[in-house]
Amino acid sequence: MFISNLTHFLDSDGNIALEMTRIGRERAGFFAMIVDEATKPPAEEYIELRCFRKKCEGTIEIMILDETEEIEYWCSHCPDIAGRISGWQGTKWDNRKLTSDL
Ligand SMILES: [Zn+2]
Repeated sequence: MFISNLTHFLDSDGNIALEMTRIGRERAGFFAMIVDEATKPPAEEYIELRCFRKKCEGTIEIMILDETEEIEYWCSHCPDIAGRISGWQGTKWDNRKLTSDL
């Protein structure tokens, strides 16, 4: 279980930092996609994405933890793809403001 702070992957403009390794950028893109999905209205209890690993038929399941607001994700097939994302609030992938403006 990894806990990743999304802001550590971003530059001062809030974009995915260019000076990372390819793997780092892929990981950051994956986290950004999860945050985007998790915060998209209508808020669902349970969201599923296709696993990004080649040849994996599993789905990535995502939920926002009530207590900490960390976003937890795990692949139904890959035991090593599981973790939590913190520090996503207020990033450009945080869609919650779309609903609170109504
Ligand atoms: Zn998988």
